[in-house]
Amino acid sequence: MSTAFDTAFDTVIVGGGNAGVSLAARLRRDGLEGIALIDPSPVHRYRPMLNYAAAGAARMGRYERSMHSVVPDGVEYLPYAATAVDPGARTVTIDPRGTGGPGGSDTVGYRSLVLCPGLVPRWDAIPGLDEAYRDGWAVSAHVPEYAGRACAALVREREGTVVFSIPPEPASCGGTVLKAAFLACDSWRRAGVLDRIDVHLVTPFRGLLGLEPADSRLRPFVDEYGITVHERSRVSAVDHRARTVRLDGPGTAAIAHVDLAYVPPPSRAPRFVAESGLSDGGHAGLVGVDPGTLRHTRADSVWGLGDAATVGTRPSGGALRAQVGVVADDLRAGGASAPYDGYTVIPIAVSRDRLMLAEHDRDGLPAPTVRGLDLTVPRRATYAFDRYVLPVVYFRRLLRGRV
Ligand SMILES: Cc1cc2nc3c(=O)[nH]c(=O)nc-3n(C[C@H](O)[C@H](O)[C@H](O)COP(=O)(O)OP(=O)(O)OC[C@H]3O[C@@H](n4cnc5c(N)ncnc54)[C@H](O)[C@@H]3O)c2cc1C
Repeated sequence: MSTAFDTAFDTVIVGGGNAGVSLAARLRRDGLEGIALIDPSPVHRYRPMLNYAAAGAARMGRYERSMHSVVPDGVEYLPYAATAVDPGARTVTIDPRGTGGPGGSDTVGYRSLVLCPGLVPRWDAIPGLDEAYRDGWAVSAHVPEYAGRACAALVREREGTVVFSIPPEPASCGGTVLKAAFLACDSWRRAGVLDRIDVHLVTPFRGLLGLEPADSRLRPFVDEYGITVHERSRVSAVDHRARTVRLDGPGTAAIAHVDLAYVPPPSRAPRFVAESGLSDGGHAGLVGVDPGTLRHTRADSVWGLGDAATVGTRPSGGALRAQVGVVADDLRAGGASAPYDGYTVIPIAVSRDRLMLAEHDRDGLPAPTVRGLDLTVPRRATYAFDRYVLPVVYFRRLLRGRV
């Protein structure tokens, strides 16, 4: 099929999120040319702000940019969805007319392909959840379109039962649901209504995040806010008419009379990854890469990073700095200087002015980045850094390939 984009690039990046834009910028700084970035979304979001926005502690609009404005100079921006990859022919199929059907596609050739299309909701994994979202009874920051509604719902809550649920992996920094939960609890406490709200936390992990020493630091706040924890459990179904959240786990089978369910849907990589034979074969259809080199295990000219790839650790934006470096080195020099070690981080605000960092490696062991200062201790300075400094670093440095 011949088209305007029936053309080849040296490097094609699919996904203009945190990973794709940072990598494109880094490659440009390294002097690489012939780069194309494919993403259908007109908006680029600083996602870590979504939980603050959901809890009424930030205005999301301030942390959104047009995709066009964040694509680095010298990078060809193709504002379309990738619908297929042919690793043999080294082409990506895109859908410029947005038809999704046959006859509406063009192809883009590449020498090297980087897949970082993030995660998408797996609505069918929790029967009733989609309906509950549309009804306004279920919300979360993990579905950005609903972050505003989550804020209104959490702020409005004055009594009743609220369920927060940490999504099972793979999830985009899923542990940050605790951030929204603690921020909301602190607001309810300040408003004098916390003792009228029965707060539940459902977590797939042992304890809270299944991470020590982070869990020990967080536990006192769980107790202080009076949160009932359902560990090693996940939401299996919701009934928004009966207002019931069903759980799959060793304890409680259902939470009844729920007023608000803050339940992110489980997630998976976009389907084109598996349909192109590039997934690891798991239920989430992630891009099957070697977690150290981030190169595809079967397709030599394909790399994967970010939330959508089998990087072997809990996905986060903080994990991307190292991942971007590994892929950029490999693309530039044909060999990364050091493998990705699985570093990742979950920032958790324990109140509206204190925050701690759960930095860990792929085995869940602490991986502190700062010496002599225990960042698992909740501090005002760490909150200020996460809430006010990091967004500036993100837009001014990270997305420009300077970190
Ligand atoms: C609510 C929330 C809170 C978070 N909080 C934190 C935090 O506090 N700290 C932290 O470090 N991390 C946090 N994260 C995680 C962090 O935002 C992600 O790890 C990071 O954005 C992942 O980057 P990515 O580029 O892999 O995916 P994304 O940023 O999700 O970008 C994926 C891009 O791919 C595009 N795409 C999708 N399908 C296609 C397709 N078919 N073709 C082309 N493009 C496509 C999408 O439009 C999107 O622009 C949070 C995430 C969420 C959702």
